[in-house]
This record gives sequence, C-alpha cells and structure tokens, in this order.
Amino acid sequence: MLYLILGIITTAFAVVGVAVWAYGIRRMVRTLGVGRPVEAARKADFGRRITNTLIETLGHTRMLKWRWIGIAHWFIMVSFPALVFTVAEAHGEVWNPHFHLPIIHDWTIYGLFIEVIAAASLAGILGLTLYRQLRGPRALGRRSKFANSRHWTAYYVEAYIIALLVSIFVIRGIKVAMDDFPFPVWATPVSHALGAVLPASEPALALVAAFKLIISWLFFIAIGVYLTMGVAWHRFTAPVNIYFKRNVDGSVALGPAKQMLNRDGEPLDFEEADPDEDPFGVGRVEEFTWKGLLDFSTCTECGRCQSQCPAWNTGKPLSPKKLVMDLRDHAYAKAPYLMQGINEETPDIHDDVLALLSRPLVGTEEENGVIHPDVLWSCTNCGACVEQCPVDIEHVDHILDMRRYQVMIESSFPSEANTLLKNLENKGNPWGMSESKRTDWISEVDFEVPVVEDRLPEGTEYLFWVGCAGALEDRAKKTTKAVAELLHIAGVKYAVLGSMEACTGDSARRLGMEFVFQMLAQQNIETLNEVGATKIVVTCPHCFNTIGNEYPDLGGDYEVVHHTKLLAQLVKEGRLAPIERVDKNVTYHDPCFLGRHNKVYEPPRELITGVPGVNKTEMPRNRERSFCCGAGGARMWMEERIGKRINTERVEEALSTKPDLIATGCPFCQVMVSDAVNEKKSKQEADESVEVMDVAQLLLRSAKQDNQQEPQARETV
Ligand code: SF4
Ligand code: SF4
Repeated sequence: MLYLILGIITTAFAVVGVAVWAYGIRRMVRTLGVGRPVEAARKADFGRRITNTLIETLGHTRMLKWRWIGIAHWFIMVSFPALVFTVAEAHGEVWNPHFHLPIIHDWTIYGLFIEVIAAASLAGILGLTLYRQLRGPRALGRRSKFANSRHWTAYYVEAYIIALLVSIFVIRGIKVAMDDFPFPVWATPVSHALGAVLPASEPALALVAAFKLIISWLFFIAIGVYLTMGVAWHRFTAPVNIYFKRNVDGSVALGPAKQMLNRDGEPLDFEEADPDEDPFGVGRVEEFTWKGLLDFSTCTECGRCQSQCPAWNTGKPLSPKKLVMDLRDHAYAKAPYLMQGINEETPDIHDDVLALLSRPLVGTEEENGVIHPDVLWSCTNCGACVEQCPVDIEHVDHILDMRRYQVMIESSFPSEANTLLKNLENKGNPWGMSESKRTDWISEVDFEVPVVEDRLPEGTEYLFWVGCAGALEDRAKKTTKAVAELLHIAGVKYAVLGSMEACTGDSARRLGMEFVFQMLAQQNIETLNEVGATKIVVTCPHCFNTIGNEYPDLGGDYEVVHHTKLLAQLVKEGRLAPIERVDKNVTYHDPCFLGRHNKVYEPPRELITGVPGVNKTEMPRNRERSFCCGAGGARMWMEERIGKRINTERVEEALSTKPDLIATGCPFCQVMVSDAVNEKKSKQEADESVEVMDVAQLLLRSAKQDNQQEPQARETV
C-alpha cells in the first residue's frame, strides 16, 4: 500500500512539474518575444556559434576565470543531466525498492560515474554555499559580490541540490545494506560507507526516493512559476544566450559600440530613419531586442560584474548586476500586459497596471523610474562587467542603448556634457579649441614632422593619428612628441593630418549622441580616404577602438595599430634600442579601451621591461581585471559627484606598489592618473618625485641616445 501511495504521489508531482515547467518555458519565450528583432548576424553561422557554445559551456571557459568556483560549478552543471538516471531509477524505486534501471544497472562504470559526479557536486555545492555565507553581505556589506542578489532564490537552489545529492547517497547506502547494490567498494566508497550505518529497510528506501522525486519536481514547479529566478533558470537559458552572443568569434561584446538598429534589426541609416517607427535607443523595456531580454533572464546574480565595476567599487549607485536584475523584473512584470495588447492607451485599466505600463525606464524615485539616472550616467564603459560575466550578458550595449534614448529623444543627460557636444559640433574637438592649434606641438620638436596637404607623401607607411588630447592637452602632447620622435629615430616614414584631423567621436558615441558621432566619423573617413591612408598609428586607445573597430561599419577600413604595439615591434627589430638605464620602480595601468576592449596587454609591458634598470611591479588589479581610471564612457567630460573618485581609488592601488613612475598608454588615463597623483602629493600622501607618463615617454628616455644618426637611412616597417 505504501508503495502504491508513493508511486501515485510522485507520478502526480512529475506530471504537474513537467506541465508547469513547460508552461513556464512558453511564457518565457513569449516574454522574450515582446522585444525587438536582433541583427541578422546573431542568427548566422550556426557551426561557429554552436562550437563556441559547446566550448564555453562544457569547457566552462569563462567560469574557470574564478578557478575553484569554476571547477565546483562544472561538477554541479554536469550533475544535472548525469543524475537524471537516478531520478528515473527513483521513479521505479517508489513502486519497488528493488527496482534497477535496465541494461546499465550493474555496469561498474555507471556506478562509478554516478558516485564521482554526485560526490564532487556535493563537495562543490557545500563549498559554494559556505562561500556565500562567509563572503556574503552580512560579512562584507557592499563589498560582497552577493550584495543586491535575491538571497532566498540562491538558498532555495542550494538547499535543493544538497538535498538531492544527499538523497542519492542515502538510497545507495540503503541498497548496500539490503545487499542489493551491484557495484564494488572501490568504485562506490561513499555509498558503501553509508551502507555500513544505514538500515536494510525497503520502506525507508522508497520514502527517500519519494522525497528525492518530490523535491526535484517541486524545483521544476518553482522555476515554472518564478520566471525571474535566474539563479535556477540559467542552466537552461545560458547556452542559448551564449549561442546568440554578439560576436561570432566567441569574444565578449566589447570593442566596437553596438550599432543602432532599425525596426527590422538592420543597421540604422539616419537619413532614412523614422523616429516614430525606428528605435533611437531604448526608452521602454520592450524596445530592447529579444536577446537583450534573454540577457536579463539569464543573469545568475553571481555578482562577478558588480565586484569588478569601478562605479560600484567607489560608492556609486551603479551595480551592473542590479541594473540587469531591475530590467529583468520590470520586463517580466510588464510583458504579460503587452502580450495581451494592453498599453497605457487602453481605456479603463487599473491604476496599478497603468503605473506599471507608463513607468519610465530611466527616471528618479519620484518619477518611479526603473533605472535611476545616476545609475545610467555612472558607467565608464570600462567593460569589466562584460569581461567577467560567465553567461555573456552585454551590459555595455544595454547601457548605451538607454543613454541613446535619453540623449537623442529626451535630451536628458548631465549638463556638463552639453559643452562637450557643442565643442565637438562646432570645433571638432572636446575642448572647443581652434583647429589650427592641432599643429602647435610640431613647433615644439626639433625634427621634421610631415603634415599631409592633400595626399600622404610618397612612401609614407603610417598616418600618425594624433587625436584631440594628443594635439591639445599638455600632458598628452608629451606622448605625441615622444612617439613622433621615436618614429623619427627608428626611421619610420609617417605623416600627420594636422588641422584636417577631427575628433573620432568616441566620447559622443559613448555618451549616446549617435548623430554627432556619425557626423564626425563620416568627416574623418572622408579625410582619411582622400589622403589615401591605409595604415594608421594612434596613441589614444579610444581613437584606436573607434577607427579600427567602428569606422569599418561606416566605410572606413584601415589597419590600425596602437603606438605601444608598433614601438614594441620596432624594439624587437632593433630599430629602437633602449640602452640608457632608467633606475625606477614602474607600475603599469592598463587602459580599458586598450586592454579589455582590444586585448592589447603585453606590448606596453614588453616596452617597460625592455628598459634597462626598470623594476616593474604589477598592481593587484591588472590586465583583464584592471581597474578603470574613470574617464571612459564620456565620463571624462562629466563631474564625478557621487562616492569616491575612481582615479583616486586607482592611484591608491598604484601607490601601493611604491612606484617612482606610473606608466600608461592612454592620454585620458594619463590625465586622470596624474590628477589623482597631484592631489595625493598636495596632501603629502604621495612622494613629490612620483611621475606619471606614457610608456612611449619612458622608452624615449632610454632609447634617445645613440639612435638618432641618419634615421632616414633605416628601412621602414
Ligand atoms: S562598463 Fe564598467 S562602469 Fe559600466 S557597468 Fe560595467 S563595470 Fe561598471
Ligand atoms: S550580469 Fe553576469 S556577472 Fe553579473 S551577476 Fe548576472 S550573471 Fe553574474
């Protein structure tokens, strides 16, 4: 009788569990369906995409960046499909405690496989549960990566997995005690150890099997009901999200800014765009693409993004995790009405529904906004969140889309950025300086700098793109002069555009002002094409990213190299010889748009370590986990009113290495870092002798001697 009751109950749970879960999938798919179409590229190239998905999922390539957590998670992931066998077996055991799966039931390899996976998963989930407790917000407050997570969902999932795995071993142990277990001790030691202490009880086995089945099917019912339980759903949604990631080569969504798309998911052409039909950014949650909504659904709330975010780490309200969770919760609250065709215009809707449907996506508490403007405008576009996210969520693209709407449709953005936009439109540079000033630095060097008049001079190998900061900002000008001199010493034939150059538009684009970006980009592409540029060397990583990664979409295809890479190559070829000793402790700050966005980590380091006498010490956060200087995402042009200054945080980290010199490879970083160092000096918190400079300046100090003879006689690169 007991077995009949257990059999009926567990079968009922299974039927309801499958039905509710399937209905949940249907609701989720329909919710994603309220989003806009994606660009065609996301649906193309099945072979490469499926390969990436398999490698990233089965190989846990992104999870393993956090080593032991990745290993523990891998076993838990594998246990999910592997232990389906034990669930199937339990459905037989509730009817008959001596039930075994057909065919494989006495294969030692099967017994060993289940034992290993279950034991490793149990160790893994216990470790992760303990980690969450020890490193949770109770212990670490805001510094915990679990701050902002919904804890009950995580506790529930952890409790379920632990209970399931323990049940598996208890059932096996009882079978050992009943002498009904076909596997040898060496293959199933945990089960045999438990068998020594558990009773040989058939009813007990059936009851534990029933317990295991009920909690398993309750899990499916729970996630079928709670579609926003990303910590549970990601085991189903993550592979799909990875498959449809932006870059078919498997890389994360960094580098070029996301293109604006029209209503059909094709690149938006401003000349043909219809503001009533085509999205100018995202002003409502349903204006994200369905992939955007899938991103939000997939968030596991692990907090890796938050733990790396410079805004969050300096006391600002932006947490990339919370931003994603808030968008997810809003999307799932709103979508059911949209699916029924209900919107703000629908007559006689309840006040609460009206409030939900008309809730602004970006707005203050008083405006009932989903995302606070301070959250949106705190982002430096540093990419640390995207780099760390184990399920390939594309935070920067979503932030940019929301900024675009705020800037182009609402005209709502930090007022300081107005000056930036005005200067860019009127003068072609962020400072609003006269274009004739762009060549001032040339009169400050004692060698010839060729300036293009109409076409690049015959034999010119590189167009040296100086950039606005490099031409107009005093500290960055030193880098420009150093690079020009090094190219001169190495005998590289180059030329500059002088006053023909205009801002690449990076700051305008990252602010969300796509019109101004496109205007500047088209102007520059026209100039570059007219002068016949093919190879371009740049000192600014923002220009490097824009010209190299974004101009191709607008018809500008060039081979673009960052100066650190070109200089490292020249040193390798012996055309630059750093021979003078520079006896200094040096630390290097990775610019986000050079490192994370474009994966240039080693050339600047090679240059630094190639200088005799230099003692290089890495900061704790370096390379892909480097900490932003605070200038990206057009933040360079905005006040930083909330929390600690990001550049101060970074400089404190740099100073912890006791440097004589902080080197970098970006004019924006140079400005931000030297500002913070100067502030520290004024407070006597940094030695007066600490210097901040570009890697090129350091190289020049060492390479200037004995290399200046007959530069033109050397071969070009
Ligand atoms: S891009 Fe950087 S600043 Fe912006 S949310 Fe991500 S980690 Fe934070
Ligand atoms: S967005 Fe990615 S990194 Fe951030 S909490 Fe969600 S899953 Fe983790």
